[in-house]
Amino acid sequence: MVKKIYTVLIFLLTFALSFSSNIKNVRFNSFPTQVVFDLDETKPIYISEYDETSRTLFVEVGGVTDHYDKKVTNKLPKYVESIQEYKYDGSHGFFLKLQKNIFHKVSIRKNPNRLVIDLSKSRNIKQYTVVIDPGHGGKDSGAIGIKNVKEKDIVLNIGKYLRDELKEDFNVVMTRDRDEFISLTNRSRIANKKGADIFVSIHANSSNQSSHNGMEIFYFSKKSSPYAASVARYENSFGEKYGENTSSIVQIAGEIAYNKNQEKSIPFASNLTKNLSKTMGMRNRGIHGANFAVLRGVNCPGILIEVGFIKSPKDYSIINSRSHQKKMAKNIAEHIRNYFY
Ligand SMILES: [Zn+2]
Repeated sequence: MVKKIYTVLIFLLTFALSFSSNIKNVRFNSFPTQVVFDLDETKPIYISEYDETSRTLFVEVGGVTDHYDKKVTNKLPKYVESIQEYKYDGSHGFFLKLQKNIFHKVSIRKNPNRLVIDLSKSRNIKQYTVVIDPGHGGKDSGAIGIKNVKEKDIVLNIGKYLRDELKEDFNVVMTRDRDEFISLTNRSRIANKKGADIFVSIHANSSNQSSHNGMEIFYFSKKSSPYAASVARYENSFGEKYGENTSSIVQIAGEIAYNKNQEKSIPFASNLTKNLSKTMGMRNRGIHGANFAVLRGVNCPGILIEVGFIKSPKDYSIINSRSHQKKMAKNIAEHIRNYFY
């Protein structure tokens, strides 16, 4: 342990010369149980080591130019037996002796910038819930494309690949993981019941003109352009077709949450569409706000991805290929990870 820490120290000191990240505050959260170090840097230099025998977790932040000088050892967080603090030239270290059978996870989070130690009795520490919503299903095939390919099948494949990419790090909930019919109302109900932190609905676009191609992402908005409104109307029409009154799906979040959710959805959608279209070699049709029934009822940031046009030969060859579906899922997963961490 001592030797390890010495090595760590040398490592940190080397970086300390070129970076600075200061601890602004240390807090303990009780639900979920966390020790939080607020930092003034997005990409801090830090290191963490855990010694099983002594049950000691060592965390050190490097590049410290201004030491945090409030004493953090007066009060102990849950699951922690003791804390020892060490200040070195250019770095700040903490030894946390954990109680028996406590698991930990150290991560860097953004907004605000912080280093978080999650502590739990469960080995499986997952903080965020991602709800994946493959559109349509069962009697509702969605749009029909080239060679009679069905939207419901393409989006289910992508959804399942996305789940596989995320399940290690997130609580992943799928509104459907097989070919079954789920009403739009129930999709948002599932998301809210599971406490979704983000909702990702996957669809494929349709147009009678085969020259229309590319991907685009929608977020919920009460106002929309005529184009975005027409896409929302089209997707909502499937709900209506199967007996659902989509206008009865109420927006659950209040005005403040509505603005906040939209504020979070827009940059996420915008980064994703730029990067994903590039990765897939597809046209980027941008992001649009529209009144999608499925997004309206969800009480968290949510997006609806139209992964491509099912009747466009160019898009069809991409979105109907397993390897491309996997590639797409990988890229979406990366953006979801960046959104949270
Ligand atoms: Zn659809």
